[in-house]
Amino acid sequence: MSDAIVSIRNVTKAFPGGVTAVDNVSLDIAQNEFFALLGPSGCGKTTLLRMISGLEMPSSGQIIIGGEDMAFTPPNKRPTNMVFQSYAVFPHMTVEQNIAYGLKVTGVPSDEIRRRVGEALEMVKLTALAARKPDQMSGGQRQRVALARALVKRPKVLLLDEPLSALDAKLRDDMRLELTRLQETVGITFIIVTHDQDEALSMASRIAVMDRGSVQQVATPAELYEHPRSRFVADFIGKVNLIDARVHRQIGRKVDCEVKGLGRMEVASDGLVGAQVAIAIRPEKLKIAVSEPAAAIRVHGKVRDVAYYGDTSHVVVEAADGLMLSVNVQNETRRGGAGVERGQPVWVHWSPEDSIVLSE
Ligand code: ATP
Repeated sequence: MSDAIVSIRNVTKAFPGGVTAVDNVSLDIAQNEFFALLGPSGCGKTTLLRMISGLEMPSSGQIIIGGEDMAFTPPNKRPTNMVFQSYAVFPHMTVEQNIAYGLKVTGVPSDEIRRRVGEALEMVKLTALAARKPDQMSGGQRQRVALARALVKRPKVLLLDEPLSALDAKLRDDMRLELTRLQETVGITFIIVTHDQDEALSMASRIAVMDRGSVQQVATPAELYEHPRSRFVADFIGKVNLIDARVHRQIGRKVDCEVKGLGRMEVASDGLVGAQVAIAIRPEKLKIAVSEPAAAIRVHGKVRDVAYYGDTSHVVVEAADGLMLSVNVQNETRRGGAGVERGQPVWVHWSPEDSIVLSE
């Protein structure tokens, strides 16, 4: 990618004791992206972020920021700044002093400090609270102080390590919106580490999904959700039905599969003849009918479970061969719910184009 601000090239990090936290990762992150490193606990995302910041050095490979190899550049000389999970702010200083601190220690003239702190306060909407101390503020406000402290130094890249994990659910939702707005306004590249798929999907322009030190797939949120390349990605991003199948033959741009509990089915795919695969279908793509539908793909079964979540209901249907299908039903009316009950015989159906063949 020619406009990459951060280029990670074949980076590996092995810790003493035999843990390879990051295993030969290559990634290009473009200017002005809101990029997320997403994966389960221990997949290496924090280690990768710390290597970008300079807090950790790669065992091998290169980290290039703004066209320069960072091998010998310490953290404070890099065009990056990090916002930590615990949002380190000084408790004895006011909001204003907290934000000014980083500029003061690097000898920025006081006029300029005043102006830049004023701008930073405005960016994070804390102008009215400039004279407060952190212990007189809410968690979300303290988080904004930490953001302003990082932004005031005008980094090219802002690194955020699980920035919302210390906030309660409602505040987290508000801060997601705030962070995306902020990123658009300041025009700085944001790289965020999170294990929360909703957080990554709702905020990031692109996401790298990591597993056991490796990058599994890099794509936009919609591409990851609708076109996952592996069972791991399909399962990690949202909920999914994964059904075992074997590919028999290629017919044009489709494959003819024998699918557990469903029999023969044609699904769009290429070159997997003889392979054991999984057919993936998202629960909201499945529909429930009480009488036999005319759909091309339909399976008869019995409702095993119904769970009510307010906006949706989650229905589990057991079909032949013990095949369990998870179906998400939108609760469009107040009375409706899923409209089915446990033990009821039903049909589940979906469009062929909503099935994805996964070989890995
Ligand atoms: P989490 O979401 O739990 O923070 P993560 O995806 O950020 O997980 P890392 O913190 O990068 O994962 O850790 C990746 C692996 O490297 C883990 O197995 C971890 O135990 C190991 N690890 C991290 N830092 C060190 C260290 N300083 N020394 C030894 N092993 C480490």
